[in-house]
Amino acid sequence: MVVATRALAPAILEADLRTEDPPALTFAAGQWISVPFGPKTVRAYSIASTPRSPSVITLSADVTPGGPGSRWFRELAPGIAVTFKGPLGGFVFDRADARHPLFVAEEIGIVPIRAMLRDLDERGVARATTLVYWARDPGWLVYDEDFRRLAGRRPSFSYRPIVGASLAAAVAAAADEILATRGGEIPGGRGGPGFTPGPERGGAWGDRLGPPMYVAPPMAYVAGGAATIAAAREVLMARGLDRKSIKWEKFYG
Ligand SMILES: Cc1cc2nc3c(=O)[nH]c(=O)nc-3n(C[C@H](O)[C@H](O)[C@H](O)COP(=O)(O)OP(=O)(O)OC[C@H]3O[C@@H](n4cnc5c(N)ncnc54)[C@H](O)[C@@H]3O)c2cc1C
Repeated sequence: MVVATRALAPAILEADLRTEDPPALTFAAGQWISVPFGPKTVRAYSIASTPRSPSVITLSADVTPGGPGSRWFRELAPGIAVTFKGPLGGFVFDRADARHPLFVAEEIGIVPIRAMLRDLDERGVARATTLVYWARDPGWLVYDEDFRRLAGRRPSFSYRPIVGASLAAAVAAAADEILATRGGEIPGGRGGPGFTPGPERGGAWGDRLGPPMYVAPPMAYVAGGAATIAAAREVLMARGLDRKSIKWEKFYG
């Protein structure tokens, strides 16, 4: 049942749902629920909140598309009952993967990524993480303030909001930066998970940087429209990421 609604921007709304049956939802940050509107019509909504709150989950929607999902979301109000299936999906953070995570979100695609970043923060994970968050104008960067605060508290979190300018160029710059720093090194070197042979850096053993370092590409998590996912994948694959190193969640297109 809906317990609260808020507008984050004129066309971006949040709704808190209290789960009743079952009374608590077991899910991983980044998963989504499926809401039925008819025998053949369903819409997916990512869970914006984290598993820390299993009994009240938050959804966040861009209602500009104006179809059945948007109309339903606009009408949500406290007391309205909601039926859904879930949790669903595999767009979740792999904590066993030591690579530097590079998150890329196009506008409302931020929802599952916000859940993953908050989940990491709530669990006290302080590893190096980068977020590229694109929107057409500042009003559409609805979680900007949260991420600025997170970056202030956790220097290991690199936050790159992009307004208007090219998302692909920002993804390329972020990936290059990860590759150029020790953050791109993976524990276990050549044998580590996701290792892609790259130029050896650091010179001979014994130099100031210590043992030889090997360049490892980041692990990317991309969410948004199809065109953005395709552009981000192209840029990342040109930098050595293989298909399995780019998880993506296509919202539309
Ligand atoms: C796994 C998954 C998770 C999703 N999570 C969310 C979420 O957390 N929040 C959310 O708002 N949406 C999310 N979506 C999209 C959502 O399911 C609906 O497609 C969206 O709300 C539009 O539904 P609609 O019925 O209003 O419009 P539709 O009739 O489905 O769409 C109308 C047109 O708008 C396009 N479109 C849909 N969404 C957008 C958009 N954001 N920007 C531009 N064009 C768009 C469609 O491709 C279509 O051409 C998710 C989709 C998937 C597959």
